[in-house]
Amino acid sequence: MYITGIEIDNFKSFSKKTSIPFLDGFTVISGPNGSGKSNIIDSLLFALALSSSRGLRAEKLTDLINLNSGRNTAEVAITFSDGTEIRRRIKRTASSYYSYNYLNGRLVKQNDIVELLAKYGIKPEGYNVVMQGDITRIMEMSDFERRKIIDEIAGVAEFEGKKVRALEE
Ligand code: ATP
Ligand code: MG
Repeated sequence: MYITGIEIDNFKSFSKKTSIPFLDGFTVISGPNGSGKSNIIDSLLFALALSSSRGLRAEKLTDLINLNSGRNTAEVAITFSDGTEIRRRIKRTASSYYSYNYLNGRLVKQNDIVELLAKYGIKPEGYNVVMQGDITRIMEMSDFERRKIIDEIAGVAEFEGKKVRALEE
């Protein structure tokens, strides 16, 4: 299972609707400084609902809406190789903002998306997205902390948690 493409609309520097195909295998995004490469990664974190736990580069969610278009919504859709589409939209109002999540075009709760992605092995505490600075941090952490990350990636961390809870009962 892999991401076949994303569609970004009015998100950060992408004022126009932009489709980016991800080919099977390896995709490289290149471009000058400030051209929006990292914003594409931010759009993935946003749509995968990983934004609260991992460093999305924005102070508030409404900072993700393009500043120049005059529109009040930003939207990112991700398509997976099995045809599943998840979409997240953020809408700014005079006093607040709203976040909407869609699964194959149907409005769902954010948690429904989180649970679906967990089945694919995409988890907020996981390392599906390796952010700038992560490698240095991993190199500098203690053996014990590094082991926790390896357990997480190998998928044994959840059993460790279950074991601890079972022993407590
Ligand atoms: P580098 O090579 O330096 O890492 P990059 O290609 O990763 O650059 P990004 O960080 O993705 O660049 O893009 C930065 C640009 O996005 C800046 O010019 C910034 O002004 C613009 N930007 C960020 N948020 C918004 C927004 N809400 N509306 C319009 N432009 C935005
Ligand atoms: Mg960058």
